[in-house]
Amino acid sequence: MKNIIKKSITVITVFAIMLTLAMPVTAEAAAKKAPKLNKSKVTLTITKKKTKPTVQLKVKNTAGKKVKWTSSNKKVVTVSKKGKVVAKKKGSAVITVKVKGSKTLRCKVTVKDTRKNTSNKPVTCQHKWVKHYVEETVTITGSQCACGQIFETAEEWEAHSIEMGLNREYGHGSVASVDIPKTITKCDYEYCEKCGVRK
Ligand SMILES: [Zn+2]
Ligand SMILES: [Zn+2]
Repeated sequence: MKNIIKKSITVITVFAIMLTLAMPVTAEAAAKKAPKLNKSKVTLTITKKKTKPTVQLKVKNTAGKKVKWTSSNKKVVTVSKKGKVVAKKKGSAVITVKVKGSKTLRCKVTVKDTRKNTSNKPVTCQHKWVKHYVEETVTITGSQCACGQIFETAEEWEAHSIEMGLNREYGHGSVASVDIPKTITKCDYEYCEKCGVRK
């Protein structure tokens, strides 16, 4: 009887040791078999030649279970039912992969755009136009009276000549036209205070 108990204890002990040894292996094997995404982070660059760069995402160890792909921002990237990611415009998005009965996997996608003149500014800007001024030196043609006075406009000259005529002043009269340099401030263009667009 004692012998049977002893034998049983030995068997149980051996069995327990075997279980202990087997468990980490099983856990490791399970971890290895968990669904895994081939990429967790990816950058796609839109260029003049490649306007719609793509990347193929793959899930390993799905064990034939259903996989559902979704994009957090379809304006930036779209994803097909088979995990093909297509870049649409500059920005970032997260591709979520749901493997039925398993945890959710994610891949962060960053889309860059190297094309020039591709405005990423909102096209819906409610422009607020502001005038831009520039100082410019111009030459205007004036008249110089024989008395030495210079008049910028014909009206001024006319007024002077009438006045002098009425007063019967002598020593006045038209002399050749003269160039008068003048600094003027003018508006050369208008620009939007918000987005910088010119018109
Ligand atoms: Zn604007
Ligand atoms: Zn005069």
